Amino acid sequence: MKFPASVLALLLATTAFAQTREVGPYTVHPIMPGVLRIEDANQTNPSGIHRDAEGKTTGFNNCSDMYLIVGGDQALLIDLSNDIKWDTTAVTSLQAVVAQEIGPRKLHIAITHFHGDHTGMLPAFKDNPAVTFWIQTDEFKGREIFPADRTVPIGGDSSLDLGGGVIVDAVKIPGHTDHSTAYFLRGKNFLFSGDGLGSGNGVWIFSAEGFTKYRATVDRLIATIRTPANGIDEQQLIVFGAHYWQKRDKEKLTMQYILDMQTLIGAIKAGTAREEKVTFGPYLNTNFISGEATITWNKADAEKFKAE
Ligand SMILES: [Zn+2]
Repeated sequence: MKFPASVLALLLATTAFAQTREVGPYTVHPIMPGVLRIEDANQTNPSGIHRDAEGKTTGFNNCSDMYLIVGGDQALLIDLSNDIKWDTTAVTSLQAVVAQEIGPRKLHIAITHFHGDHTGMLPAFKDNPAVTFWIQTDEFKGREIFPADRTVPIGGDSSLDLGGGVIVDAVKIPGHTDHSTAYFLRGKNFLFSGDGLGSGNGVWIFSAEGFTKYRATVDRLIATIRTPANGIDEQQLIVFGAHYWQKRDKEKLTMQYILDMQTLIGAIKAGTAREEKVTFGPYLNTNFISGEATITWNKADAEKFKAE
């Protein structure tokens, strides 16, 4: 088959764009031009549970995902991965990936929440005077880790204009932590949600207060998505969690995932949620499941919520 030169060029460009690539411990997955997922896993240390030929567990990489959004004259990196100890090139590899993608653009860094598997590679950027930190500072009260003179606080919800029509809207989604924050890429129906909604395996809720906050978050998020002025097409919405590998066999997380969370909260209240014992610690002892949604929480606190 013979293609005209223009079609061939487009095909080649598309092929080049679509390729994932490994750089040190990282795998870079293009989502669309100017939007990338960077995972701290590679073929020698893949995501999830590692098993030998007999099925025995030999290792585990609970890798997390950073998302890089490249605008006209600025770029935003959301989250900073685990603190990688298993590859000595982690710092320089991450710096190289970001530099290659953003070129001369100014770099901002945003963090979904304070947990160490999302802030681990801060040393790669902390001392770079050209980098600005766009931070929900309430989340880091008492654990100030960002250079104060280059930290721009997000007060509640906030937006960042990266130039060229690329705008990121931050929305608070407390529950998993008190000030967890998610980021909408405006006009693209992408939601980068950290651990705030879970990544498919279940959202971890660490207290009764956390659950109360999460209930409000799910209602508010659905209302935000359905506010026409926000220009979000819920049919097209894709939720990108910070542990992307945990979506397992699901092709992607969509609006249905968020709606199932709302249904699940109602089912916990009604006592009709499917329950599964887990042992993620003394508090996290039960998965509550409905549809695509799982909330990993505490059986006794769920019983109290039911009785309220
Ligand atoms: Zn977390």
